[in-house]
Amino acid sequence: MEKRFEDTTMEERLADIKKRIEAACKRAGRDVSEVTLIAVSKTKPVSMIEEAYELGIRHFGENKVQELVDKYNELNKKYGDSIKWHQIGHLQRNKVKQVIDKAVLIHSVDSLRLGQKIEEEAAKKNIVCDILIEVNIADEETKYGINPDELIPLFTELIRMPHIRVRGLMAVPPIVDDPEKNRKYFSKLRQLFIDIKSKNIDNGDNKIYFDPDNFNILSMGMTNDYEVAIEEGATMVRIGTGIFGEREYK
Ligand SMILES: *Cc1c(COP(=O)(O)O)cnc(C)c1O
Repeated sequence: MEKRFEDTTMEERLADIKKRIEAACKRAGRDVSEVTLIAVSKTKPVSMIEEAYELGIRHFGENKVQELVDKYNELNKKYGDSIKWHQIGHLQRNKVKQVIDKAVLIHSVDSLRLGQKIEEEAAKKNIVCDILIEVNIADEETKYGINPDELIPLFTELIRMPHIRVRGLMAVPPIVDDPEKNRKYFSKLRQLFIDIKSKNIDNGDNKIYFDPDNFNILSMGMTNDYEVAIEEGATMVRIGTGIFGEREYK
């Protein structure tokens, strides 16, 4: 019988997740070093992030810019650049400036206007910002992300921006009871990823800033479906509840 969440320690939960990640990699014939675990710490206190850090976790995901910035300011004093922040939630244009030099990766770019804003702010700070394009993979009305049909046109625009580096794709498929139901979406995202990676992009064109070797991140899979996502090729899994427990929203 599975233990109740309350009866486990974070150390036990992380060990269990690592074991499952390894098993999923093995089933898929992949090396475990290909998969990065992002601990999604949104709504959770700094003390729990410190606990996870002490247990070896280095990548943390946040939805809200203000929360990411606050936690960055508190924890990067202590840990320096060894702690990495991922902006995984929807990003508003007026928040771009605050987050681009604090997040190592923005997972949620889904419009040209947002891309242009990132380009503008990154240019001012003289940095190159790593991003993923978020795809609305199941065509859900309520979800963020670009429609699959519009992915290539958006990609084609973003790779013309010198202060943006497009690193891969991200998706948040439907919430399902049976993770197998999402396998087709993970597989579809991977296919879109491969299509782009193998696309013949003229690198002799000096207005294009794209290197297919750096296009190597597939961010998909959460607490309920990360094992299936890994079997389908995920290189980053974003796990919140499975590490930190249910979230309470005030
Ligand atoms: C909250 C969140 C997660 C983590 O979800 P869990 O089901 O708690 O693992 C992953 N990705 C995104 C984009 C999220 O907003």
